[in-house]
Amino acid sequence: MMKSFDRRKFITALGLSATATAIATTSSFTNELVENSLTLIPADTPSDIKITHVSTFRVKRAIFIKIETNAGVTGWGEASSNSPMEVVESFILKTMPKTIIGMNPFDTELIWNRLFWENHDLGPSGALSYAIAGIDLALWDIKGKILNQPVYNLLGGRFLTEVPAYCGIPLKGGKIPVEKAVERALKVASLGYKTIKLRMQIREYNLNPIPDPTLRYYEAVRKALPQDIDLFVDPNEGYTASRAIEVGKALQAMGMKYFESPVPRENNKDLAEVVDALDIPVMAGEKCYTRWEFRDLILEGNPDIINPDLIKAGGITEVKRIATVAQIFFKQIVPHNTKPTLGTAAALHLMASISNAGPLLEYVELDTYDEVMTCFDADQHLKLIDGKLRVPHSPGLGMEINEKKLQQIAK
Ligand SMILES: [Mg+2]
Repeated sequence: MMKSFDRRKFITALGLSATATAIATTSSFTNELVENSLTLIPADTPSDIKITHVSTFRVKRAIFIKIETNAGVTGWGEASSNSPMEVVESFILKTMPKTIIGMNPFDTELIWNRLFWENHDLGPSGALSYAIAGIDLALWDIKGKILNQPVYNLLGGRFLTEVPAYCGIPLKGGKIPVEKAVERALKVASLGYKTIKLRMQIREYNLNPIPDPTLRYYEAVRKALPQDIDLFVDPNEGYTASRAIEVGKALQAMGMKYFESPVPRENNKDLAEVVDALDIPVMAGEKCYTRWEFRDLILEGNPDIINPDLIKAGGITEVKRIATVAQIFFKQIVPHNTKPTLGTAAALHLMASISNAGPLLEYVELDTYDEVMTCFDADQHLKLIDGKLRVPHSPGLGMEINEKKLQQIAK
């Protein structure tokens, strides 16, 4: 039988400012062994806390994951919805609970390992990685709430308290009228963003299109924007190396500061050619999963900045490791991020805790995530102040879902 856990007593025992030392020495903790499929480890976290239930809520453009514990503390995570939601949700609801129910939510490393290796044959990238990320975020939320600390403090504390955000403008491979792109860029600038990205979406429609649409958008938007606003281009992997170098050199000559995802993720050697040919930083990695794919990206493609997505690449636990891999090669991290709520909060906590956070964080495209935003009360929304997002400092991820509202709109 699962022992009940008295959260009030536990919090009191920790004096509301728990430290790892306090946890290890509090007398109610036992040193019993916890069995897992790989080895036997001592349980040095509160052994009475157990995961009791996992549920999901699907809304347009998001899957939210709720994890309950016998401590009366609930954590919320978000999984990417970029692959079919049903597949990701099926992993979270049908495959993973039988592993994690009864486990201690503090054991995020052990849980990550078990979920990854037990399901490895189903494909280590994509849907599996999305699902693990969703659970991982919820567990970090639980840990922070139980210890009454923001997640960044559990990751090693803060290097920074705010991060400049940028906003992308999707251009459907050149199918959006240039004047609409200019109008949208001016609207984004009026919200306080200091950096804007033209998201060309070329590969979704074509490869190396003729005529090439990128320069005419860049010229028109650059001309319309105030000079103190940076503008850069993401062809969304729509070029081979030769075209990427040709377009990249032209944009570089026009003052562009960064070039993102110029070539297909599968062609790391092409990426290395582009990086060699240009003087400006080249970013890549939004379609990479786990530390091993980032190792290959860095060793073969050598981008200046890498773009792991917290809720695609395996969650906070895995992206912290990816940041360390990147650090070995002195690469900066600019997270790919298309989620304006828990996904962004997770990225901010991670960026705060690493020495190689890059100069930017991607933030929400306008009008795209209205339904997701309604799942959080307005006072829970992250605020863009002077083009920057502040790292949340409430316990856990620092954003609380309004569950009643979520239940009303969940599918
Ligand atoms: Mg991109």
